Amino acid sequence: MAREAMEFDVVIVGAGPAGLSTAIKLKQLAAQAGREISVCVLEKGSEVGAHILSGAVFEPRALDELVPDWKDKSAPLETPAAEDRFLFLTKSRAIRLPTPPQMHNAGNYIISLGALVRWMGKQAEELGVEIYPGFAAAEVLYGADGRVEGVATGEMGIGKDGQPTANHQPGMELRAKWTVFAEGCRGSLTKGLFERFGLREGVDPQTYGIGIKELWEVDSAKHAAGRIVHTIGWPMDARTYGGSFLYHWGKNLVAVGFVVGLDYGNPHISPYEEFQRFKTHPAVRPVFEGGKRLAYGARAINEGGFQSIPKLVFPGGLLVGCTAGFVNVPKIKGSHNAIKSGLCAAESLFAALGAAPDGAVLEDYPQRIQASWIWDELKRVRNIRPAFRHGLWAGLLYSGLDTYLLRGRAPWTFRHHPDHAALKPASAFAPIAYPKPDGVVSFDRNSSVFLSGTNHEENQPAHLTLKDASVPVAHNLARYDAPEQRYCPAGVYEIVRDAQGHNPRLQINAQNCVHCKTCDIKDPTQNINWVTPEGGGGPNYAMM
Ligand SMILES: Cc1cc2nc3c(=O)[nH]c(=O)nc-3n(C[C@H](O)[C@H](O)[C@H](O)COP(=O)(O)OP(=O)(O)OC[C@H]3O[C@@H](n4cnc5c(N)ncnc54)[C@H](O)[C@@H]3O)c2cc1C
Ligand code: SF4
Repeated sequence: MAREAMEFDVVIVGAGPAGLSTAIKLKQLAAQAGREISVCVLEKGSEVGAHILSGAVFEPRALDELVPDWKDKSAPLETPAAEDRFLFLTKSRAIRLPTPPQMHNAGNYIISLGALVRWMGKQAEELGVEIYPGFAAAEVLYGADGRVEGVATGEMGIGKDGQPTANHQPGMELRAKWTVFAEGCRGSLTKGLFERFGLREGVDPQTYGIGIKELWEVDSAKHAAGRIVHTIGWPMDARTYGGSFLYHWGKNLVAVGFVVGLDYGNPHISPYEEFQRFKTHPAVRPVFEGGKRLAYGARAINEGGFQSIPKLVFPGGLLVGCTAGFVNVPKIKGSHNAIKSGLCAAESLFAALGAAPDGAVLEDYPQRIQASWIWDELKRVRNIRPAFRHGLWAGLLYSGLDTYLLRGRAPWTFRHHPDHAALKPASAFAPIAYPKPDGVVSFDRNSSVFLSGTNHEENQPAHLTLKDASVPVAHNLARYDAPEQRYCPAGVYEIVRDAQGHNPRLQINAQNCVHCKTCDIKDPTQNINWVTPEGGGGPNYAMM
């Protein structure tokens, strides 16, 4: 069956803060100039916001630029930051440390990024942007001259066996003068663009963390709207980068999460179990006792920062937001930069449409990024995250020096190494005996995934593809005791054996996948390739 095609001036892949700010700004500029610009946004979640997971403490700086009257337009920024606490945990104690300057949140808000993105989607639609949720961009379309000419959505109704089912529908081509990739952290199409256009040549590898989050409704007596708590230390060992966040917001809501740097070396580590264990700490547990867990999810977050920013433009397209990697790690914030990058992209695109040849390389966009506060902010903090490679204490010491003495102006830049190369053989470490979930503050993976609302059409080819089917057992199990069983926060990967306990094989429960992208990042030989499943599949986050 032939694919139908639609034509737009600009097609945007991903309705996150970066994609939607690009769309909104383009339409605002067009309206001011009395011009018509057609803009389409594709979103793989079943609705806008369904795949958005963040902390989130939100810095409104970029939103102020994009929609200055966001208060009058009832943007969901309802809980102003009121108090910052930074704690070091030992097994039984919580020691208050001075809050690092980057973590001061006066003027910021505690929000659900999913709710903000839904609001942004409405603003975009009111301006005439066409948004298509439930459609994953599965393929980049290239012209005869090699430039990007748009994307195609995936076919629907292909069975597990790769054959069309009775519900088969071909994909749709969305052709554009320029295509904006706003897929968020570890974008699946962006990964292909990196290779095709050599966009990562000459920059450091991107590095990541896995963030696992729950939303709780707690006893009102334990709730302090606007309180922001970050912890380091227990239960992580001092060699592994990680920590927690607890944000009190809304009506008795607490967003609690744990981030583990994916450069960890011990393959026995389970970020999921570390998070569950963290909630049993005597200083943390009381917050949640008597409360109700409402939601669960996970998502990777970029940690590479300044030295990992790739080339942002190529013929016919550009990268915005976290698919490029604009997270400020010491601040633990990326959504303000995602929105700002969308603003810069829209300004460049608007100037180019009708002026530059279609599909040219928009060099103006990286220049705008470099002239913006994104560049300055990321450059200043570039050495802080890599300093933690030498352990918690070395990292803290260096961060203090860098922040207070050098003020981000050190004449050196620490380098990054790829996360997948960091694992050491399982035999080098003792297995970790994680406590059993108590069903009060800690839970098993299956009941957690249930709270993410994850759903995939079962009769479809697995979207977790293996380049070589023998690697999971012959290499990963043999050398690393199958780390995918532990780093996947949704229990997608299981080593199963026959009744006699022999013949291990990897079972992939793809329908549980919450689209965090950790396997695509951490698999030691990069044998796992995450591709988009049928559009609409994946988590259904309401307020994450
Ligand atoms: C645990 C955690 C805590 C965080 N805490 C904070 C915080 O407190 N403050 C803060 O400012 N930032 C925080 N961040 C970072 C912040 O969430 C990101 O910087 C921000 O979401 C990036 O926006 P984005 O638009 O680039 O990508 P995303 O928000 O990831 O949005 C990308 C969108 O594109 C869609 N998409 C992807 N691929 C395709 C495709 N092929 N086809 C169609 N659609 C596609 C996705 O479904 C998604 O909706 C946190 C991140 C994590 C993981
Ligand atoms: S299968 Fe991969 S992307 Fe899906 S939840 Fe597990 S680690 Fe995340």
